[in-house]
Parts: sequence; C-alpha cells; structure tokens
Amino acid sequence: MMTFKNLGLTEKILQGVLAAGYSSPTPIQTAAIPVALTGRDMIGCAQTGTGKTAAFVLPLLDRLTNAPRPKGGRPVRALAVTPTRELALQVEQAIRAYGKFTPHRSVAIFGGVPMGPQIKALRRGVDIIVATPGRLLDHMERGNIDLSHVEVLILDEADRMLDMGFIPDIRKIVARTSKERQTLLFSATMPREVQKFARSILTPDAEFVEVGERRNPAETVVQHACSVASHQKMDLLLHVLQNEPIDNVLVFSRTKHRADRITRGLAKKGFTATALHSNKSQNQRQRALDGFKRGRFQILVATDIAARGIDVDTISHVINYDTPNQAEDYIHRIGRTGRAESTGDAITFVARDEESYLRNIERHTGQRLARKEYGSLTAPEASGSFQESGGRRERKAPSGGRPWKGGSGRPGGRRSPSRRK
Ligand code: AMP
Repeated sequence: MMTFKNLGLTEKILQGVLAAGYSSPTPIQTAAIPVALTGRDMIGCAQTGTGKTAAFVLPLLDRLTNAPRPKGGRPVRALAVTPTRELALQVEQAIRAYGKFTPHRSVAIFGGVPMGPQIKALRRGVDIIVATPGRLLDHMERGNIDLSHVEVLILDEADRMLDMGFIPDIRKIVARTSKERQTLLFSATMPREVQKFARSILTPDAEFVEVGERRNPAETVVQHACSVASHQKMDLLLHVLQNEPIDNVLVFSRTKHRADRITRGLAKKGFTATALHSNKSQNQRQRALDGFKRGRFQILVATDIAARGIDVDTISHVINYDTPNQAEDYIHRIGRTGRAESTGDAITFVARDEESYLRNIERHTGQRLARKEYGSLTAPEASGSFQESGGRRERKAPSGGRPWKGGSGRPGGRRSPSRRK
C-alpha cells in the first residue's frame, strides 16, 4: 500500500498528516506529491473532493521546511490564490492543520471583511498567504504585501478563476512574484483557455498530472435525475428529505431569490435550513457555513458561489433543485458530496424546460444519469419525455432507508460506517 512516507515527505509533515487522521494518500496525492517535491512546475487536473488540497499543501510545507529560511525579516514565501473566499479559508485551515508541527505562519486574505485584522497579521509577518485575487491586489497596491520572495505559487481551481474573470488579476499578481518560483496550477476541468493560460505562466517543462477521467465527477458520488413539474419541485424536495437516509444536504438553486424562498419553505415544514449566496454579507455567509458544518442547520440552500470550496464531510446529499445550465457547474456542485473516500448521493431535479441542460450534462460526463422516481411527484407524464434522450430507462422504487424527521436534532445520526470510510 502506498504511504505518505513513500511519497518522500519529511518527518514534520508526516506528523501533520498523521494528526489529520489520514492513513494513505489519495490517487491525486500519490501522483502529484512526488512531482511537486522535485521543485518542478506542475498542472494538476483533479475533481473536487479528491484530496487535491493536501496534494499541493503538503509539498509546499515540505519545501518551506527544508529550504533555508531567508535571512532578515519574514518575507512571504508562498502564495495560494483561490477563486472564492470560502475556499481561501479552507486552504488556509488545511495549511494550519498539516503544518501543525512546522513553524510556518499563514493568513487568509479575502474581501467582504475589514482590512484591519489582515494588515495586522501581515505586519506580524507571514510565510504563507492564501488569498482571493481582488483583496490581494488591494493589499499589494497599498504596499501591504511584497511578493518578490515567493518561492511557491499555487493557483487553485484555475477553471473557476477563468469563469469568474480573474485571469487579468492573476496575471498582475503572478508578475509580482519571483521568476525563480515553483508554480502549481490545479483545475477540475482543463478547457483550452486554462491550458493556454497555464502555458503562459508555467515553465515549459511543467509536468501534467491527471487523475481519473477528466470529465467525470468523482466516482464516489451516486447520481440520479428526477423528472418533475416545476411547480412540484418543493413537494419533491420535502419528499426526498423525508424519505432518504440523509445526514446533511446541500440544495442548489439557480437564483438567490429562489434560494431564500426554498429556505423559508423548508423552515415552515420544521427543517433547519439556511441560505448561502452573494447577497449575504461575508459574515452571514460564514455564519451560515459554520452553522451547517457544526450541524446547527441540516440543510444549506445555495447558489453556485457555494459550489466550490465547501468542504463539509458530512454532506450526504447534494440536491440540484434546479438543473445547472452549465455541465461544469454540475460537476462542481456534486463534488460537494462524496468527498475523498466517503460516498454521497446527488439528485438533480429536472423540469421539462431543463431537459436540454440535462442532456448537455450527460454529453459532457459521457454518462447517462439513472432516473429516480418518487411516486406521483415524478409523474410519468413528465418523465416520459426523458425517453427521447435514449439509453436504458431505470425504474427504481423510492429508496426506503431511515426516515429523517426534520426539525431539531441530528437527522437520524451519522451514516453507517459501511457508507462512510
Ligand atoms: P479536497 O479535494 O482537497 O477538498 O479534499 C476533500 C476531503 O478529503 C477533505 O475533507 C480532506 O480532509 C479529505 N482528505 C484529503 N486527503 C485525504 C486522505 N489522504 N485520506 C482521507 N481523507 C483525505
């Protein structure tokens, strides 16, 4: 069996991994860590939830631990740029966890919160910065951050940064780092624009590391689609919540307004639910996410800003209340469950006018989603139209399982160990 030690990590880092409770590296870690440890540039293509954060954080910490500390002051030696605030926080938490036995200091820098505490942390001196592009540039322009000593640059979820229009910002940031740096770029998907961008900032001998089928979602997620009339989506959601063995659920809606409406509807039925979208302040977003992580809310209703970065290991179900109109969003959404080695379920509600989105997703993933029926809610009249997309039509009875009674307390406890590793 492959071990973290075999990958060539030093003792202090191995202790951090042990403290995190990991027994063996995931495939992306096995593939990426030895390459990153050579000091070469690397492009890592891995689905969300595959353990890619540790795949870049561990070699990063290893390098900072083994390379001589620069003389004089405490320059910033590593920078990780992420597309969302939530992801920045999570990567920084991972650095703290895995780097527990190293002396490195890190800080997360992102917008939506006051600059004061960030400036204070920067003045104290940090070795590693994890940041979103906008706020990072703000600090750079004010002279709060000097990147000229950065030895390792990590760009996480590059495809998302591209979608969000961050590439010009990233170029400005990259231009301010040392030419001697090592660059590690990670992306869940590898569209041509990402490849072009990568070529422009990585060294020509950069290694490409890919794990699994590029376009298929993590294999640990069981995926289904449910055909439903638009006006019955709320009823179907309640039915699923009451009939599936559910821990924590992430529900995705297309708009902020709908997310709020779904949240109110669930609360009315006694479920503890909270909404996460970009109309909320950063504080509200963090409170919603923390409350969800701690189990205060069993359901988080989110728009796509939450599709990335959220790492809550008890998410048993992702429910797409609305079918995502971009196949890549679908992959990111469902990647919120089935993290690392646990399994999860993804259920996508498909109204008649969303069927073309579903076909698009199926084309993209090269896989037809099994259809799931929930009695009269997924009326044959509506699901009949699925037949035109061809393939095997799977008739499945609604799964029994432990019912989850909404309201207070944990929903039927944790899943059985056989479901989660
Ligand atoms: P990521 O894809 O980096 O967001 O990681 C997904 C989840 O997998 C996180 O909850 C990690 O804590 C967890 N994880 C990462 N590496 C391992 C490992 N080697 N063994 C078990 N869990 C892991």
